[in-house]
Amino acid sequence: MANLKLRFEKGRIYTYIGEVVVSVNPYRAMNIYGRDTIEQYKGRELYERPPHLFAIADAAYKAMKRRNKDTCIVISGESGAGKTEASKYIMQYIAAITNPGQRAEVERVKNMLLKSNCVLEAFGNAKTNRNDNSSRFGKYMDINFDFKGDPIGGHINNYLLEKSRVIFQQEGERSFHSFYQSSINDGADFKAVADAMKVIGFTPDEIQTVYKVLATILHLFTGNVLVFLYLSPCDLSQGNLTFGVVAVIGVLLATKEENVGKALLYRTVATGRDVIDKQHTTQEASYGRDALAKAMYERMFCWIVGRINDVIEVKNYDAKVHGKNTVIGVLDIYGFEIFQNNSFEQFCINYCNEKLQQLFIQLVLRQEQEEYQREGIPWKHIDYFNNQIIVDLVELQHKGIFSVLDEACMTVGKVTDEVFLQGLNSKLAKHAHYTSRKLSPTDKSLEFDRDFRIRHYAGDVVYSVVGFIDKNKDTLFQDFKRLLYNSSNPVLKMMWPEGKLSITEVTKRPLTAATLFKNSMIALVENLACKEPYYVRCIKPNDVKSPLLFEYERCRHQVEYLGLLENVRVRRAGFANRQEYPRFLQRYKMISEFTWPNHDLPSDKEAVKRLVQGCGFEHDVAYGKTKVFVRTPRTLFCLEEQRDEMV
Ligand code: ADP
Ligand code: MG
Repeated sequence: MANLKLRFEKGRIYTYIGEVVVSVNPYRAMNIYGRDTIEQYKGRELYERPPHLFAIADAAYKAMKRRNKDTCIVISGESGAGKTEASKYIMQYIAAITNPGQRAEVERVKNMLLKSNCVLEAFGNAKTNRNDNSSRFGKYMDINFDFKGDPIGGHINNYLLEKSRVIFQQEGERSFHSFYQSSINDGADFKAVADAMKVIGFTPDEIQTVYKVLATILHLFTGNVLVFLYLSPCDLSQGNLTFGVVAVIGVLLATKEENVGKALLYRTVATGRDVIDKQHTTQEASYGRDALAKAMYERMFCWIVGRINDVIEVKNYDAKVHGKNTVIGVLDIYGFEIFQNNSFEQFCINYCNEKLQQLFIQLVLRQEQEEYQREGIPWKHIDYFNNQIIVDLVELQHKGIFSVLDEACMTVGKVTDEVFLQGLNSKLAKHAHYTSRKLSPTDKSLEFDRDFRIRHYAGDVVYSVVGFIDKNKDTLFQDFKRLLYNSSNPVLKMMWPEGKLSITEVTKRPLTAATLFKNSMIALVENLACKEPYYVRCIKPNDVKSPLLFEYERCRHQVEYLGLLENVRVRRAGFANRQEYPRFLQRYKMISEFTWPNHDLPSDKEAVKRLVQGCGFEHDVAYGKTKVFVRTPRTLFCLEEQRDEMV
């Protein structure tokens, strides 16, 4: 903590723990990302230069290029800590150091990858009280490289867009940027987005459709659509303002006005063999309208991501001809959230962070220890909290919170959030990380009968169950899907393929929001787990966006829940680098007369010992069964230098 504080105050925002970069948001423009800085880090070893994101980006790039390894850079931290900025600098760095041959196709791909950010931010980011440009979705982006190490394509996965923002924003916050980029507000941004969309290859019809969807959503709320629809037919004929709104929506969605009105007011239900139109109550109608606005926006966002992927995906790459195509993945995903009022969204986000912490434990902490044990290197066991128990609490089949929630949602008849809470209490009463008011009536942190508390690895969070059932079911009446599918705008129609089914054909219950999210997280973690990981841990020094203020307690809490203490302990006890003997020899054999060009020692291990002794690094090295372990980076760095002199 003292180190972080001192460095922050001196304008040194990056600090290493081993190969993990800790970044403290400077909240001011730093002159450390320019061309000259890039040149300083390009091709260098991690410890040759002061800590920097570029060094991590370069390390990931080198691992990929030298060793043909898929790598990933996981960026975590709370909202406003600097994750998205970091991910952009990393991409800029990679773009800057690749394609020395200036191949046109590679330049095109790089341009697309960079431009995609601009479009995704317009539709997926918003001003919040924590961050003026807060990402309201999680993003994982793969960059694919060819055998030369040049980018040839990419792929974006998006996670859990906060779509409720289109219908409601906290005081002082805004909806997604896209709603404000008109010629008056946010004008320059609008132009940039419009240009980026054109460059990426969105057709004029597609771009128009995007604006039409935005306009529809605005009209759904500004025009008091529902008030009008509940007026009598004679009011209808008087052509008042709201009448205009429904007609406008009809035009925007390229469908008949009366179809729009009907979808907002009625629900087609199959009862036995009959199909009837059932009129909504006011409450149902306004629920339906909200769901429509949210779903249209989310669907459009996913469609935009899909369109970008169409354009940036690797094409015509033949691994037999060109060698393996390798990947660097960059994950910029929401950090742990503890708000005054925590709901389903925070629950999902915090579950995501539990999963990532588990990955971190597996990859960095546990693997490290297990490797020393396997290799027979003396090792003092280091205790850390294994959060698998919390991951299980959330995701375990039949027993976990998501399962209990899905079960409650499946119950026929009217289910309430309280039914869900009862389910939790009956299944989880004994769980060490779960409490509710019912189970612990005197617990002061649990204020209401509708709260439950999870003891997360990062701290306790109290969730209100209110809204869990609705948000998990995430119902969008079939009528809307059919309405949009039957639009004569082909772009819009394409976004809603399931609207093709008629009421009698719809049998399958759509997967719940929790299940979809869980599946996407499991897939994400599996994907990351098979890559060589690099970590960027972002810390937000204060709540007032000040470049001067390092709020000690605030930072300490983040250091704790990012798992940095365990990280430091493991690093201190361990070795900076390890390599299998043959690989080590292959790389450094030229610096010793005993090993160049070949050695006649009984084993590679013996040869490595000889080499290391010859260089005088004996004190800093341990010999495992199959690998040589180097304690300090400096030793490795010297070896690299000597090698450079020879080759
Ligand atoms: P997050 O994605 O973690 O929510 P952002 O990356 O959007 O946070 O950063 C929030 C704000 O903090 C940015 O808009 C910018 O003003 C400031 N910021 C973050 N990182 C840096 C940096 N490296 N240099 C200067 N300002 C930064
Ligand atoms: Mg962000």
